[in-house]
Amino acid sequence: MTPSLRFWIPILLLLSIRPAFAQPHSHSSSTPVSFPDIPGYLSLTTDLHQHTVFSDGSVWPDIRVMEALREGLDVISLTEHLEYQPHAEDIPHPDRNRSYQIALEEAKAHDLIIVHGSEITRSSPVGHNNAVFITDANALLDTDPKVPFSVARKQGAFIFWNHPAWYAQQPQGNPVLSDFQKERISKGELHGIEVINTTDYSQEALQIALDENLTIMGTSDIHGLIDWDYIDHGKHRPLTVVFAKDRSSSAVKEALMERRTVAVYNSLWVGRAEWLVPFLKASIVVTQASYIPETQILKLVLENRTSSDLLFENIMEYTFYSSSPVFEIPAGQSYTLQVKTLEIKDAIVLSLRALGAYMAPGVHPEITWDIPVE
Ligand SMILES: [Zn+2]
Ligand SMILES: [Zn+2]
Repeated sequence: MTPSLRFWIPILLLLSIRPAFAQPHSHSSSTPVSFPDIPGYLSLTTDLHQHTVFSDGSVWPDIRVMEALREGLDVISLTEHLEYQPHAEDIPHPDRNRSYQIALEEAKAHDLIIVHGSEITRSSPVGHNNAVFITDANALLDTDPKVPFSVARKQGAFIFWNHPAWYAQQPQGNPVLSDFQKERISKGELHGIEVINTTDYSQEALQIALDENLTIMGTSDIHGLIDWDYIDHGKHRPLTVVFAKDRSSSAVKEALMERRTVAVYNSLWVGRAEWLVPFLKASIVVTQASYIPETQILKLVLENRTSSDLLFENIMEYTFYSSSPVFEIPAGQSYTLQVKTLEIKDAIVLSLRALGAYMAPGVHPEITWDIPVE
């Protein structure tokens, strides 16, 4: 090593180390999610399936909190695998509540609800299941797969079946409801099912949710970074929109237990008609309804008040003057329809089929709006 390098290397090293306080972390993003409330309920955005270095994720728990704040979420849970600990040599014998505690500390000064959770991780037919709203993850550890379910239930948990169609456990890519799961459902130890996990949507999982009266869920199951997996691709992570009576942890749990959810992955919305219909209805607001002068053509300006691009098909008796009968209203934007009503009306009923939304496999909701004409 030359004397000059010997001089420069320590200085360069010093320059490369910046104290943490020199980097104010940003909790804002250009792409926060936003959805309207529905009558009687708040629409809270949740992602209740995420990993950190405390299981097989690649980030410290505080990063999950910052990602959620940047994306504008209301509720998250860090659900570390109980039985899969690939970082055990670096983080030996971790307290299974630690991930939650660190996230809670980071979220203290912010408006983000942290839910205590864990992923019960077994091979098929038990599969992977998240228990959220638990009080002690350590108490869920047991060799008998029935124990974590019964203990979580006693702790007051909401429990859901993760990625039921995962091809590593279901090579045909279709979920199979096992006797083990049927028993958990009958004992009140399994309440929900993911129909959307990462970028995957399972119609068969939706059918199981409807048949077994389970809560419909969508989650990111993030292991790396939300920005790299979703935001950089122009997407938001999958979410479960929960219709809660207030903005509290207990209200979120009550809503999940009562199945008041819609799983949202960008333009794909999946939920029971009971919640999907009012949610879509609140998402589109007609901001203008007036006739083009000297015509019977009604101009309707539709505003999309969500962060999802929404696809619709005209199902009215009236046809359009300008638009295709199938049209998309981009997230946060307006779209103008010109409806040929054939005569001047005081009011019309706008009726559209939501082609990106499913209330059963292959079944789209039909939404109506009563529009007074200006
Ligand atoms: Zn899993
Ligand atoms: Zn997972």
